[in-house]
Formats: sequence, C-alpha cells, structure tokens
Amino acid sequence: MEENHSNLARRIQNYLKELRNKSESEREIFSVNEPVCTEIRKAQYKGSLVQKLIIFLRGTGCSSIDLNGGCTFCGFYSATNHGIKLERKNFLNQLQFAFDLHKKELDRFLIISLYNDGSMLSEHEISLDVTLDMIRTLSTFQNLQLITTESKLQDITEEKILKIRNATTKELELSFGFESSDPLVRKLCINKNFTNNKVIEISKLLKAHNFGYTALVMLKPPFLSEQESIYDAVKSLEFLEKTEINRIDIELPTVEAFTLTHELWKMNLYKPIMLWSVVEILKRKHELNLKKKIYVSPANYTVKAIATSSNCNLCNENFSHLFMEYNKTNDISVFDNLTCECKHDWSRRLIPSSLEQLPLADRVGNMMDIIEKLPQIVGFLR
Ligand code: SF4
Repeated sequence: MEENHSNLARRIQNYLKELRNKSESEREIFSVNEPVCTEIRKAQYKGSLVQKLIIFLRGTGCSSIDLNGGCTFCGFYSATNHGIKLERKNFLNQLQFAFDLHKKELDRFLIISLYNDGSMLSEHEISLDVTLDMIRTLSTFQNLQLITTESKLQDITEEKILKIRNATTKELELSFGFESSDPLVRKLCINKNFTNNKVIEISKLLKAHNFGYTALVMLKPPFLSEQESIYDAVKSLEFLEKTEINRIDIELPTVEAFTLTHELWKMNLYKPIMLWSVVEILKRKHELNLKKKIYVSPANYTVKAIATSSNCNLCNENFSHLFMEYNKTNDISVFDNLTCECKHDWSRRLIPSSLEQLPLADRVGNMMDIIEKLPQIVGFLR
C-alpha cells in the first residue's frame, strides 16, 4: 500500500540530515572573509543586455538544513560555514574583497547581485542589519541601477521588505526557490513546504512595495521521470503566469555531493534532464502563449557538479549557446531546425522505466528503500 506521504517526507528529511552531517568531515578549508567567488554575466535590463556582477558570499549555511535537511538536490551547504553564523565583519570584509577584485570596473555594472547559498533574509544566516548595510553601500554606486538578492519564501515579511525599501533608492529584485507548483512534488521530490497561496500572497506584497520578483524553477527534481519533468515544469510556468512574478529563472539540475540526488545517481536512479527536454518545455510555454519572461540559467553553481544536464558532446555547446540567445529575446525560433543523433536517446528517455510507472509515492518509497539499504548490503559483503 502507498506509504503515507508525511512518513515518506520524514524518511527523506532524516536521510538528508545524515548526509549533511557527513559533509562536515569533508568540508573544504576557506576564509570567512572572502566570498566563494564572483562572476560577471550579461543580463537583460530594460530591453538591453548589460553587465551584471554576482557576488557569491560565503554564507552561514541554509537554515532549512537544520530544520528539515534542506532541498533534495542542493549541495550548497558544503560551501558554507555549516550553520555557524558568520559575523557582521565577515560579510563586510567579503563585500570589500569583491569590490577590490573588481575595482577598475565597478562603475560599469548596472546590476549587482548578492547571494549567500541560502537566504539573505534569514536572521539565522545573516542579521538583517548586515544585509541592509550591504545594500546601503551598493546604493552609493552612481551607475548601479538594480540590486538583486535571494531569500526563502518563508523569510519574506512586510517588515523586512519595508526596511530594505527604505535603505535604498535603487531598484530592487528578490528571487526565491519556487521549484514546482505541484504540492506532492514539492513535498517529496524537493522537500519544500510552502503553499501556492503563499506564493501569490508574497508576490502581491513585493509588487506593492515596488520590488521585482523572480521565481526559480528547478527542472527534474529526483524521483520524476524525464516525461513527468517536462509536464511538471510546464504546469509550474502556467501557475506562475497568474502571479505578480516578473521573471522565471529555469534552473538546470546538476548532481552535487551530499545530496539525495547524488545518492540516487550513484545507483542509476537519477539522471539530470536532457537539454532536448528543456527546449520542449520552452516550446510548450510558447504554444500556451505564456508571457512571463524566462531566463535559462547556466548550470554552474558554487559547488562542483558531479554530473550535469546535457545531451551529447556533439551538441551540448550549441544548446548552451542557443539558451543564451533565447535569454536575450525569448524568441522561440532560435530552436528551429535543431538536429543531432542524440535526439533518439531523448525519445527513448521519454519512455518511463517500470519503476517510473509506479505512482509517485510508491516510487519514492522503493527508491528510498534501495539507497537506505545500500550501506547494510556493502557492510554485509565486506
Ligand atoms: S535550494 Fe535554497 S532553500 Fe533549498 S537547501 Fe539549498 S539554499 Fe536552502
């Protein structure tokens, strides 16, 4: 019989918590006074492509990890201070480090993004006063137009939004991990637990306070088949169309260490999405005449990818290039006439395996059985 969804969610959460504890022993050595990295990207701003500086701050570590193990696919925790809260001076030193690194070109960035591999509005991770100080510092840059940052949905309150709004006259944008509109997928495949009504409520709140709002949609979370992942993403885009969200960032999955995705991948129970499926999602979005602006994010994150979304060596580069072209104009015709031998592999991937034909909860239960029992089997064989 189908295992109760809450029991399954608890199993997944306990498994994730154990993985995060294990990651402590392999933690890399880093300075808490330097950001993880910085990156310059091209971004759309009011109809033109402009330079954007992204500062990936070294974070305390996502507060969800302690609470429920965090998201199934996310390995960012390994790049953070494992939940030990960083001090004000650490974050301000990191910001200064990034400024020094880019001092000759700081004036040319119209957009600066501050991310912390977690939530910039979580008091457990970073004091709001520190976030406000950083925003005030950025506000002194004359040419800077837009400051963007990220927060978990649960951490966004009107009080915080008002404080940030009053700290700057620059445009502001907040992004959050939406991932999927399907409550069961969100619960079992992602391990997030907000409601769609909450998304609608917060998107209205942010609009009322003149914030831009971006939803991140993670493609192909664990346990979903290739075909289901396409369906799930299109459903999510349809839902987001009805909200006040300004833009949707499509996140391509990678396999990262100390994640549930990685444990499934090791047992051949998970594969990141094929790029043909991403194009299929975008085509269906256009067929449905959905108007929200889409940005397909490059699949490089602050932690190393063990495996990544891909087709084959012959066409991966071309697809990445086309996603960047699509990001400029959202013109779907950039994908016209695409061909490659690997399209046959994709057609085969769309046929669900016998495991994938099970109802989602049964499938999750079976796959969890396999990865939970593996250490016992390995121990027995030794
Ligand atoms: S995706 Fe975001 S909310 Fe989820 S564990 Fe990672 S940092 Fe936390």
